[in-house]
Amino acid sequence: MPTSYLNHYLHIDLSNGKVTPFSLSEDVLRDYVGGKGVGAYLLATHQDPQAPAYAPENPLIFVMGPLTGTQAPSMRSGVFFQSPATRLFTDSYYGGFFGQELRAAGYDGLVITGKAPEWTLIEIDNDRVTLKPAGGLVGKDTYEVYDALRPQYPEKDWKIACIGPAGEHLVKFASIDCDAHRQAGRGGGGAVMGAKNLKAIVCRGTHKIALHDPDGFKVALRGTLAAMRKDETLLGFKTGGTAASIPWADVEGLLPTRNFQRGSFAGAAGLGDEAQRTKFWDKDTACAACPIACSKDGTIKEGERAGEQGDTFEYESAGMLGANLEVGDTVDAICLGILCDRLGLDTISAGSVLGFACEAAEKGLLDVDARFGDAKSLHSLLLDISQRYGAGDLLAEGVKIAAEKLGPAAEEFAIHVKGLERLPPARVPCALRSRRRRVEGPDLRAARARRQGENAGRSAEQAGRPRHDDHL
Ligand code: SF4
Repeated sequence: MPTSYLNHYLHIDLSNGKVTPFSLSEDVLRDYVGGKGVGAYLLATHQDPQAPAYAPENPLIFVMGPLTGTQAPSMRSGVFFQSPATRLFTDSYYGGFFGQELRAAGYDGLVITGKAPEWTLIEIDNDRVTLKPAGGLVGKDTYEVYDALRPQYPEKDWKIACIGPAGEHLVKFASIDCDAHRQAGRGGGGAVMGAKNLKAIVCRGTHKIALHDPDGFKVALRGTLAAMRKDETLLGFKTGGTAASIPWADVEGLLPTRNFQRGSFAGAAGLGDEAQRTKFWDKDTACAACPIACSKDGTIKEGERAGEQGDTFEYESAGMLGANLEVGDTVDAICLGILCDRLGLDTISAGSVLGFACEAAEKGLLDVDARFGDAKSLHSLLLDISQRYGAGDLLAEGVKIAAEKLGPAAEEFAIHVKGLERLPPARVPCALRSRRRRVEGPDLRAARARRQGENAGRSAEQAGRPRHDDHL
C-alpha cells in the first residue's frame, strides 16, 4: 500500500527493559485511519479494560499520523491511555515538535507498558533506545526538568516529553508536557506516566519522511495553505490566539464564571488577547509546520513574578483559571496557568477543581482556604494538589470523586462528564444548548453593552473576532 506511514512501532516494557519493534498489517492501517485511528486500535488491543488505569499492563501510547513531520498542516500528535479519571478510552493531543521528532527518529508510535523498578528516562536516538535512571529529576517541575536535561540534550537536536510533581503523585488530571509550553493535558496521561515511574522521554531523529508522490503532495499542499491563508477565522487566531475568543464567549454567555454559576464575567477584559498583548506577549511562535501560528511567547513584566516565561494564556486556560475563578487580573491569572504548566496539571481540570473547592469552602462543605478572586489562595492550593497535601489529596482525585466523598450537597455543583471535568471545556453548557435564564443575568447584559460600546467605530474586521468553536 503506497503510504507515508513508516509502519514502525516500538513496544517498550518498563518492567523488564525490553524494547521490541513491531509493524501493523495493511488491513489495520487501512481500517484505522491516521494517528487517531491507529492509537485507538493500539489501545484496544494492548489494554486490559478491567484492570485499573495505573495497572502496569495498561499502556501509555504515543502515536503520530502519516502526515506528521511533513510540511502538511498536521501539527498535533496524540497520547492514548485509559483515563484514571473516567476509566475510559482517552486520546489527548499536543502541538510543539515532539511528535515530529519521534517520526524523524523512525517511529509512528510507542506503546509503553509495565512499571520501571526506579524512576526512568527513555532516550530515543534514532534506532538506539536506552532506559536510563532518572532519580535526579524526581520532584522537579517541568521547567526544571528542561533546565536539568538541556545541557546533555540541546534543544536544537532533542525534543523532550516529561511530567511534573502532579504526575509523580498520581493527580488524576496530571498532564504530559511535550516540549516546553505544549501539553497533552486532558484525561490524566501524566498520572499514567507517573504510575510507570517514567519521568521523561527524550528523542532525536535525523530521517526525512519519504513521500509516495512528492509532486502531487506539493500541489495539494499549495492549495491547502492558500485556502487556510484566506480563512478569516484562522487569520484572527494568528493575530490574537485563541484568547481572542474571550470577548465573544463573554458576550454569548458561554464564559464559565464562578464555578459555572454564570456565563459572563465582569473582569473578562483582563483575560483576552488585548490585555495579554500589553502585559505578557513578546513574539509570535508556532508549532511545527503550523500555518495558523496562534502562539505567542510571553514574559511576566512586573510584580513579584516578573521574568517568569510562558506561552499564550489560551482560551481554555483563561476561561477556567480566570473567569471560572473570578480572577480578572491578567498577570495573576496567567501565573496560575504557568504554575499548572510547571506542576504538570491540566489547566482545564485544574480550573474546574479549584472552582469546585471555592464553592465547597463557601458552603462550609470543605475545610480549605480557597476563595473566588483570591489568586494567592488558589496558587497555594495548586501546590497542595500537586503534592496531595492536606485537602489537596482529596481534590487531586478530581471533582467527581471529591464530591462523592463530600456528599450529595457537593455533587450538586461538581461539573464533570463521567469523571472528566467539563466537556466541551471552558464553555457553559446550558448557553451552548439554548439561552437559559440562568446565564441571562445582569453580568451578561452588562457584557453585551460593554462590547457594543467597544465595537462601535471599529472596523468590521476587528469586530468580527474569532469564535472559539471555529477552532475545534
Ligand atoms: S493553531 Fe496554535 S496551538 Fe494549534 S498547532 Fe498551530 S500554533 Fe500550535
